[in-house]
Amino acid sequence: MNQQHRIIELFVQQFGRPPEWLSAAPGRVNLIGEHVDYCGGLVLPMAIDRSTMIAAAIGTGGQKPGFARISSTAFQDRVDIPLDGSLRPNSKSGAHDWADYVRGVIAGFEARSGRLPAFDALIDSSVPVGGGLSSSAALEVAMATLLAGMTGDPITSVELALLCQRAEHEFAGVPCGIMDQFASTLCQQDHLLLLDCQSLEARQVAFDRKELLVLIVNSNVQHQLGGSEYAQRRKDCERAARLLGVGSLREATAEQVENSRDLLGDIGYRRARHVVTEIARTQAAAEALASSRWHAVGTLMAASHASLRDDYSVSCFELDLLVELAEAQPGVIGSRLTGGGFGGSTVTLVEASKAERAMELIAAGYLQRSGRACSMFTTRPSQGARLLLTKPSCS
Ligand code: ADP
Ligand code: MG
Repeated sequence: MNQQHRIIELFVQQFGRPPEWLSAAPGRVNLIGEHVDYCGGLVLPMAIDRSTMIAAAIGTGGQKPGFARISSTAFQDRVDIPLDGSLRPNSKSGAHDWADYVRGVIAGFEARSGRLPAFDALIDSSVPVGGGLSSSAALEVAMATLLAGMTGDPITSVELALLCQRAEHEFAGVPCGIMDQFASTLCQQDHLLLLDCQSLEARQVAFDRKELLVLIVNSNVQHQLGGSEYAQRRKDCERAARLLGVGSLREATAEQVENSRDLLGDIGYRRARHVVTEIARTQAAAEALASSRWHAVGTLMAASHASLRDDYSVSCFELDLLVELAEAQPGVIGSRLTGGGFGGSTVTLVEASKAERAMELIAAGYLQRSGRACSMFTTRPSQGARLLLTKPSCS
């Protein structure tokens, strides 16, 4: 049974009536442009064909008026969220739960549209949770898309993505960049999204060659130092920008970085070199993709991985191994780590006809050399957030 039919059936079982609205928002993978979002750089994500769906109906089935009753197939508990304008970001650190993402989005809509009607909702997702494919943004954007439909709020896509980012910052306590929510909201089928994280300008880049697939391989490791090292990289970049006399590394040139080697020191120099070269690679990859120069795309992905490994120091044995194994397979165009690093996933471009064999060999090589199983799936660039079922708006 497909996800849409399943969630409708589960909704009826749980709430005793059919849903009136159904929203969907995808997870995402970033093809190139890593660790540059917080420097105002360029990123090139696409939506994956796995989504978070939310089915909902107005009213409460006779119970508890003034609340949203929400449950998720990923968790046991059901939450009752008051809709009286009382939701506030909670400042507790480290103890956020899944409903905080939802609360943040509801609070954002209450601030825009006033009172929301009571409703029941069920969340179901095929985006792996915590796998670096942004199940959190998929959840926020699916919720926001649902509420925009239910209230008839004429919110723009950019406003919706920013509202979701604020929900994650304030209610879930995660200081994320803007890429995930933009990708889940704005991505289109058969396109990548070239997003300028400084101006928030977004451009669709066609990727419509059906004979190519995007392979995502999860190393199934997440090294602990990821969080603290991430914060350190951000500080390194801010310091390098200060020393170069620019607002952010987005404004620095490669020449400026080269000429300031002594001033920046070894670490500062290498961090800055990664950022300026990665931004240039992302621009170049978007152009190469748009003109189907696949070999060039592969070369840029390899250079991106090397820069993340050698200059930015965010790779690890498992990610390097997955990239090495992928690059050795016939039909593979390019491969690199994707996401924050220190574990998580790689992204690989592969010819569709050779994908299955490549996947078998990558899995076998990884098991043999790391002693671990990886998990993997292929996808094509998919559609961003949308309503799959709507009733006339209720306001
Ligand atoms: P990811 O890389 O998947 O975004 P995060 O740690 O940022 O990882 O977000 C994962 C969190 O998002 C989960 O722990 C949960 O709180 C919330 N979440 C994601 N998907 C769902 C879902 N289907 N139902 C409920 N909460 C979800
Ligand atoms: Mg997330």
